[in-house]
Amino acid sequence: MSTTKILITGITGQDGIFLTSHLLKKGEDLKIFGITRSNKNNNFYKNLHNVTGKYDENNLDLIKLDLLNQNDVEKLLTDLKVNKIINLSGPSSVYNSFQNTDEYKNIIINQFNNLVKGCYLTNTLPTFFQASSSEMFSASEQLPLNEFSKMEPRSPYSEAKYALHNKVYELRNSNDWNIKSGVMFNHESEYRLENFLVMKVINSVIDIFNQKTSELIVGSLEYKRDWSYAYDIVKAIDLIIHEDDPVDYVIGSGTGNTILDMVKFVFEYFNFDYQDYVKVDSSLLRAGDPTNIVSDPKLIYDNLGWKTEVTFEEMLTKIIEFKLNTKI
Ligand code: NAP
Repeated sequence: MSTTKILITGITGQDGIFLTSHLLKKGEDLKIFGITRSNKNNNFYKNLHNVTGKYDENNLDLIKLDLLNQNDVEKLLTDLKVNKIINLSGPSSVYNSFQNTDEYKNIIINQFNNLVKGCYLTNTLPTFFQASSSEMFSASEQLPLNEFSKMEPRSPYSEAKYALHNKVYELRNSNDWNIKSGVMFNHESEYRLENFLVMKVINSVIDIFNQKTSELIVGSLEYKRDWSYAYDIVKAIDLIIHEDDPVDYVIGSGTGNTILDMVKFVFEYFNFDYQDYVKVDSSLLRAGDPTNIVSDPKLIYDNLGWKTEVTFEEMLTKIIEFKLNTKI
């Protein structure tokens, strides 16, 4: 058997770190090529080492490349002739997408389009996983959300993701291509970007503990989301890219937790009563956002035996402890 060549775009992000680690730890005959826009990747290597421990460095190459440069992408794919592509690249904040609407959408869509054009050139059509999002679902759809639930994007970010979700469907039907879209629900970890809610809550409570601030302001305590630990989610991606059938799966825990659940847990970890510190300012909420979002991951469990293993509370504890070790 020849070495399996796997291209991971967005490798330096939260999911890229865990996916790379998971693949390296499996000890299979593989070579990972990771795409990043940066040539300063010390943090990536440090984080990867934290999660993985020792690994064979020959199995991983980082490549500095801008996926918006079509010529570079085509050359890369022609040279490497990879067997699998996992497209995790692109800006990932729904909130920021409202600030630069067109630019945001164009980046997400053009990075994907360049990869697809490059795949055509290689004439091999590698197995392709596209990172889609639960943000694509209609706010008025009944819960829990599954592969058949209605989609109706509510942000520039989800409009771009939805356009590509549909494109994936077209591409596989017109080319007999094992290309698929993974509809991922919120997932978090110690490597999540700092502007996401879970990081805001944990950083604020640590700052309260250190007497650097005295309050935490959130948009709602009632909103319910399906939060998973990112390492669990990348295990699903691994199973999906090894499946011969091109199936689009909903990937989530199937359990909803409220922002209050999160806030209470984090404050209690520090022996604080959240009521002494938390203020609610509903102007922070995004118009049109649903109150509750919860997945129904039955299909991926039935087909691939996947389900999340790390609980919501265990996930929060991991992030808090990581932050405490690096912040205090
Ligand atoms: P992330 O931490 O934001 O990582 C994405 C990576 O994309 C970055 O590390 C960055 O790497 C690269 N990138 C390329 N062009 C970019 C640009 N113009 N702006 C910002 N980053 C750019 O995301 P993640 O949480 O790992 O998520 C992976 C994928 O899953 C994303 O496509 C995201 O939209 C999707 N997703 C995530 C969630 C979630 O809850 N985390 C849920 C559903 C879907 P370099 O700077 O090294 O180039």
